[in-house]
Amino acid sequence: MIRKARLIALVFCLFLVILTPSLVQAQGELTILNSSAEAEFPFQLNFNLSARSNVNITDIRLCYTVDRTSFAQVTSEAYIEFTPSTTVDASWALEMVKIGGLPPGSSLEYWWTVEDASGNKAETAPVRVQFDDIRYSWRSLTQGKVTIYWYNGDDSFARELMVATQQALGRLAEDTGAYLEKPAKLYIYASANDLKGGMIYPQEWTGGVAFTRYGTMAIGIAPSDINWGKTAIAHELTHLVINQMTLNPYNSPPTWLDEGLAMHTEGALGPEFATYLSRAIAEDGLISVQSLSSPFSAYAEEAYLAYAQSYSLVEFLITNYGQSKMLELLNTFRQGSGYDAALQTVYGFDMDGLDRLWRDYVGKKYQSAAAKWMHPALATAGF
Ligand SMILES: [Zn+2]
Repeated sequence: MIRKARLIALVFCLFLVILTPSLVQAQGELTILNSSAEAEFPFQLNFNLSARSNVNITDIRLCYTVDRTSFAQVTSEAYIEFTPSTTVDASWALEMVKIGGLPPGSSLEYWWTVEDASGNKAETAPVRVQFDDIRYSWRSLTQGKVTIYWYNGDDSFARELMVATQQALGRLAEDTGAYLEKPAKLYIYASANDLKGGMIYPQEWTGGVAFTRYGTMAIGIAPSDINWGKTAIAHELTHLVINQMTLNPYNSPPTWLDEGLAMHTEGALGPEFATYLSRAIAEDGLISVQSLSSPFSAYAEEAYLAYAQSYSLVEFLITNYGQSKMLELLNTFRQGSGYDAALQTVYGFDMDGLDRLWRDYVGKKYQSAAAKWMHPALATAGF
């Protein structure tokens, strides 16, 4: 028995001796000890990594892909600066000012790659991290493809906005045949100020914004301002739908079409916009369709007229040629078609042709209103 025990002990010792070198090696292998990420909305995403090896760790990279619509899978890679060592705690921040910001509710997938001086490599499994606006406690309401997120106001406030949202989608489908192809997220902030606090580059006039590639809209709507909110939702939602319906790597639709459809879904043209139209007709100051195809002027007066004309151009096309032609136009733009070519294919006239036909239409429509701007009695009275 004793001999047998000795034998076992010997075998055990041998076993240990054989095992020991490999155990040492296992301890010294390149190992990722910890990886984490935390969001600081809207400013940055912080990533942390701890790794260890028996030789110096020499290369650490953070790879990430942002979840948004694109035509090719884009992976970004950040090289982490650190002093080579056997144990490394690395951190890196994705600063939103450098990438133009991410909307609330967006997410990205990230993973680390680490290499040591012996050429050993380690990679973490991809992990998804959410970029949420945690300044507020969001509630949500989903119907069809739309989810409304809100934190101020009761359930009936959100339900009323949802009804308006579905009605806007209905109007848009009826006028143009366009519909939401992918889910949409609608963040309702309690005010324009709250909304601006969630943006990297807030503009003075920002009341609502559509992050089309993310399928996300954010609008500041106080419960007391719900009627304005409904039109703002209709407007931004249309931008989202039109973007989904026309997205291609080559071209985007002309500004007048995108903004005109957004305004058309809001409802009838507001009187202040109509006034800009009548005055421009009277003063022969209408902007050409060619010019309206590019981004609008930053000057308020000119921008108002640009929006009013865009509404009217869309109204002209839908009234005279119908829903199916408008859908055909959107589908033609989806092929990446140029502006003149798309109009020519669908309607049989180019931008200049549209300009001529529309001026005739709008001139007649606003004739009486325009006359007011030219009335000599008003002119001499100093109006
Ligand atoms: Zn717009």
